[in-house]
Amino acid sequence: MGRPPNARSEPDHVFGRPLSQCPACGSDQLEPVVEIHHEEVHFFCRDCGRCWRVELGYVHRVSPPTCAGCLERTRCEAVYAADHPDAHEDENERTRS
Ligand SMILES: [Zn+2]
Ligand SMILES: [Zn+2]
Repeated sequence: MGRPPNARSEPDHVFGRPLSQCPACGSDQLEPVVEIHHEEVHFFCRDCGRCWRVELGYVHRVSPPTCAGCLERTRCEAVYAADHPDAHEDENERTRS
């Protein structure tokens, strides 16, 4: 009780279903992946093998080095490499702090 009538910003279910379709292939076969060590959740697309993270309402591609707890890391890496053919050299530790 005592909750103001228009306090609709409680973010306690922000991870309910923030992503309903894969931005790349349009599949709805998105699997939530809990990154225990980071206390975050991202989404693995079962159809295309891409991983996505939702932050502040924006969807970001998860790069394999930061894809904690990935369900299919091998596939995630392969698809990411195919999508970023010249990014694999300078990916290492660039923004790792
Ligand atoms: Zn997909
Ligand atoms: Zn992944």
